[in-house]
Amino acid sequence: MNKVITGFTTAFKGLSITFRHLFASHRKRKILPASDSNYFKQSGGTNTIQYPHQRLPIPEVGRYQLDVEMDDCIVCDLCAKICPVDCIDIEAIKATEAIGQTSDGTTKRLYAAKFDIDMAKCMYCGLCTIVCPTECIVMTNQYDKSVADLSQLTYQFSDMTPEFAAEKRREFEQQQAEKQAAKLAAMQKKEGGV
Ligand code: SF4
Ligand code: SF4
Repeated sequence: MNKVITGFTTAFKGLSITFRHLFASHRKRKILPASDSNYFKQSGGTNTIQYPHQRLPIPEVGRYQLDVEMDDCIVCDLCAKICPVDCIDIEAIKATEAIGQTSDGTTKRLYAAKFDIDMAKCMYCGLCTIVCPTECIVMTNQYDKSVADLSQLTYQFSDMTPEFAAEKRREFEQQQAEKQAAKLAAMQKKEGGV
């Protein structure tokens, strides 16, 4: 008899919790900023939100999609080297002279023929943003990047055309060849003078 009573009591408790949440779920949940101390304490109200019409606030320090301000990038490759999953692919071309300055005054001497980040591989560790000397690679608050094709998650930040890249490669090679020829001529002159 005791077991029957315990069974009914347990079933009643379980169902009362279920019905309490069922009726409570019709109330709209107040959307609080993530910084609010009650953010994780709201147990009642709507169990989900009408995404994408409604969106929960996200923490300011959240780690989401990466972005690169290419004007400030010195193409040092540090971000690619530190990346634990090798999802940053950079191809640098040496310039024949300084090509400008970043907003923090660092001189730029390399072109980025390629600067791709495969966000499908990225594990959002943030290491690349920490090592960047000019702080031009940052994590944004953009998290909704649904795509139909995985390859669309490879973001291409370089806007160099293949023609422009080829021209810059040619210019650098020519400069190197001229330097080499001048060096050789100087050596020959020195040897001839001895
Ligand atoms: S956040 Fe981490 S995994 Fe993603 S690109 Fe940067 S270093 Fe690589
Ligand atoms: S670490 Fe920064 S400056 Fe260097 S290549 Fe990466 S984004 Fe550019």
